[in-house]
Amino acid sequence: MLRTQYLELSTDPLTPPVRVSLLGATGSIGRSAAKVARLFPERIKIVGLGANRSVAELRPLIEEFKPALVAAGDEAGRKLIAEQFPGLPVEVGEAGLRALATQPEADVVLMAVVGAVGLEPGLAALHAGKRLALANKEPMVMAGALFNAAAKAGGGEIIPVDSEHSALFQLLNGEPRPSVRRLVLTASGGPFRDAPLESLRTVTRAQALNHPTWAMGPKITIDSATLMNKALELIEARHLFDFPGEKIDAVIHPQSVVHSLIETTDGAYLAHLGKTDMQVPIQYALSHPDRWTTEAHRKPLWELGRLDFFPPDEKKFPALPLARRALAAGGAAPAIFSAANEIAVEAFLNGKLGYLSIVETVAAVLDALGALPADSLAHVLDADRRAREAARTRIGG
Ligand code: MG
Repeated sequence: MLRTQYLELSTDPLTPPVRVSLLGATGSIGRSAAKVARLFPERIKIVGLGANRSVAELRPLIEEFKPALVAAGDEAGRKLIAEQFPGLPVEVGEAGLRALATQPEADVVLMAVVGAVGLEPGLAALHAGKRLALANKEPMVMAGALFNAAAKAGGGEIIPVDSEHSALFQLLNGEPRPSVRRLVLTASGGPFRDAPLESLRTVTRAQALNHPTWAMGPKITIDSATLMNKALELIEARHLFDFPGEKIDAVIHPQSVVHSLIETTDGAYLAHLGKTDMQVPIQYALSHPDRWTTEAHRKPLWELGRLDFFPPDEKKFPALPLARRALAAGGAAPAIFSAANEIAVEAFLNGKLGYLSIVETVAAVLDALGALPADSLAHVLDADRRAREAARTRIGG
């Protein structure tokens, strides 16, 4: 009897389910989000699903979660979905993403699309007062100030899903700001952590896609190899937590067990560590400020194993100092940084650009375009367009 009582008391209080609109449902983060939804069928209701091209993978998700609204990348995708699910509203393209982001049925918009695509729907979600669970970092990098302003104006909130920022968000929760000396982002160092600089010139697509600890989409995997991912995260952290760039550092931590740390003014480090699985930060972005009890993400401390930390070699990974340069330049420089990188990574994946030329291209575009304003979405989109153009011209073909 006593035991039953204890179990009942230890169970989380059941509240109405969180209603989630999932943009980028068939990508790496989208698939992890579906797993979290399956772990908590009583707590999570998927009300919107969007995918760009992978309609074949989207259809079983529609079958399973029965959303109220779906978005497809193009008209052909819309037709395929409409044939199988007559009566289900299906929107297309940018309008589709906007419809999902502002869907009245949704409490949380989980933004798991790739790259700058998340910019406009993300802002729309915040203006509509939604919680924006932000998995892709580019929008915050490109238009951090606009995102913060949109959250303020619309009554929405931004909860990071990026694992490092989820960790920092949780670590900063309740810690008085003046007590925090700096934020420390952990970086696995990617597949070339120990490779000599000279050997990097001949790196192939397959070598760069072979990430040692995280299984992710191709764009972010290449960004991890160049440390461009950490560079973008540095800018992302600047806007998410309103910390100056000089107080945000990166440390190489090959095991990816510590997801990030804060260093306090009295010399202590507070770390967030656990299983290396994107389901954990996705779940937290949905449950915050609560935590939902599950055995699924637990791992004994001794299985987390040994933890190593090294300072990053900025000669081998020039993306980090370049990010600081973009932050110092201000305005649209971070948007230019991110856009040029997207084009360079795409060119590398298509065999049109060498590995070391990825960051070189970004640096050249940043220098060429100089200081552009970022006071409005139009400014940011203009800088984005010009950076892509400049990157394409530079790469050629
Ligand atoms: Mg990350």
